[in-house]
Amino acid sequence: MNKISQDDRAPGADFRSQARELVANRETLRRIFIMREDDSARETLVKYMEQILFGLQDFLQRHVGITEEVPLKELSERFMDTTIGRHPEKKLAQVITDLINGIAPYAVNVASPYFVGHMTSAIPFFMVHLSTIVAALNQNVVKIETSKVVSIVEKQVLAKIHRLIYGFPEDFYKEHIQSGYTSLGGFVEDGTLANLSALWVARNRLLGPKEGFAGVEQEGIARAFAAHGVDRLVVLISQLGHYSLRKSAGVLGLGSDNVLAIGVDEHNRMDIGELTSTLGHLAKTEPRTRVLAVVGISGATETGTVDPLGKIADICQEQGIHFHVDAAWGGPTLFSEKYARLLSGIERADSVTIDGHKQFYMPMTCGMVYFKDPEAMDAIAYNARYVARPGSVDLGIRSLAGSRPSTSLILDSALKIMGAQGYALLIEHGIETAASLAEEIELRENFQLMTRPELNILTYRYCPPEIQKHLATAGPEEALVINQALNEANIALQRRQREAGKSFVSRTTLRFPDGRNGLTVVLRVVIMNPMTHMGILREILDEQESIAARQLPESFRIEP
Ligand SMILES: *Cc1c(COP(=O)(O)O)cnc(C)c1O
Repeated sequence: MNKISQDDRAPGADFRSQARELVANRETLRRIFIMREDDSARETLVKYMEQILFGLQDFLQRHVGITEEVPLKELSERFMDTTIGRHPEKKLAQVITDLINGIAPYAVNVASPYFVGHMTSAIPFFMVHLSTIVAALNQNVVKIETSKVVSIVEKQVLAKIHRLIYGFPEDFYKEHIQSGYTSLGGFVEDGTLANLSALWVARNRLLGPKEGFAGVEQEGIARAFAAHGVDRLVVLISQLGHYSLRKSAGVLGLGSDNVLAIGVDEHNRMDIGELTSTLGHLAKTEPRTRVLAVVGISGATETGTVDPLGKIADICQEQGIHFHVDAAWGGPTLFSEKYARLLSGIERADSVTIDGHKQFYMPMTCGMVYFKDPEAMDAIAYNARYVARPGSVDLGIRSLAGSRPSTSLILDSALKIMGAQGYALLIEHGIETAASLAEEIELRENFQLMTRPELNILTYRYCPPEIQKHLATAGPEEALVINQALNEANIALQRRQREAGKSFVSRTTLRFPDGRNGLTVVLRVVIMNPMTHMGILREILDEQESIAARQLPESFRIEP
């Protein structure tokens, strides 16, 4: 089981003989802060960078799926050290070697084209170079004094993506692109904080200052409710909404229970009839409840589906409700001339979330939030006197984060390297490969396609033909029993495939509109790696069929 050799011991292993030569003193400190200019020092630095680029590259090519069969428990036993050595234990070269040999093989190879279960995948190699530049420059965009031109680049790239979403006229962008008084959006850590920022703005605008009240941001939620005659704020999103919306409602003092789930139609899109009736019902029965926002999803995390954004926009416009679009996943679909229409209506959103570390293929992490109204973010503006002055381009003024890296440099550079067409090709590969996989699943009698892909995500399950037949004619109670057995079998199937280490498909639990099956476990495939092709996907299905036939036959023998 444990096949760790001397050479690839985890970094927990000790190297005491070497440790004795290492000391921390002023001279060694000088050496790590001041780069020596001689040839041998240069050579060493280059050698380390090579080791990182090629050593890791080697790992990424050697392993697939979830690598090495060392159980988590065994791994955790190797990392039980709570002491910090008084003196240095290792040199950089040794630390790099440890990370490559002792950590990487036990990490997850998300770059494998057989790893099709998550929204985290391979990134283009140039992202490593761009990240190195960001680290080396170490700019802090909280403030112009610690970033200068880099903050200006950030405003430019925000305008580029804003234009991709909203397509306002040239003059609009000329006015706002570098304005210190307005903001087209902002970078945040991730999609979760982008959703939080959007709701934060919506909350502060809805519960803004009025006669005798300074606004919710200053006086807090209790006084805001009293001042505005409200006792509950709700957010409406389809049942496929990401849980970050509930977190946000918790943080903002709304309460996570006040994110209300609207059902979906047979295409897994928000049921507009149910949205309208819920809004009507709230208005009639709860006069002191206000709707903070309706959220349309553009690429649901579990099914990749897109809500009817135009129809939601109509309703929000009519009733004066903030319309937020969670396009964390689906946003970059806008690059594809072929498929951008799938997101039609997004240009009417008051705010939009997009994740850079998803379909912009950036390294972890990069979230972004955009606002249609360039003054919207004034609702969250803060002016710490020593940090940010009003009207300055200090980006910390309108931002949840304080200090943060210049991730925008990576995005701006990636857009230049890829071009819109480069991103479009990635998006189109994902959508079209997912469509082919759906066809393949429908051709195989042992599988059932559970949610048809709209973008590049689909779900299905293993369900042999005799059980499918049985299920079709079963009464509701019997159907529930069969469904439960299928759930367990699919959980076991997914786990065994993952443990085999060759490929990885994720699983999730969905509720289907007919309701008669209760909660249904489904296998989920996300196609974002351009190296994933139908040959690989057929192998993955073959492997599942063989696991089911060899290891799980009793699970599929469901007695009538
Ligand atoms: C991934 C995702 C999020 C959350 O993004 P993080 O970057 O993981 O915080 C929110 N909404 C949707 C639709 C997502 O797919």
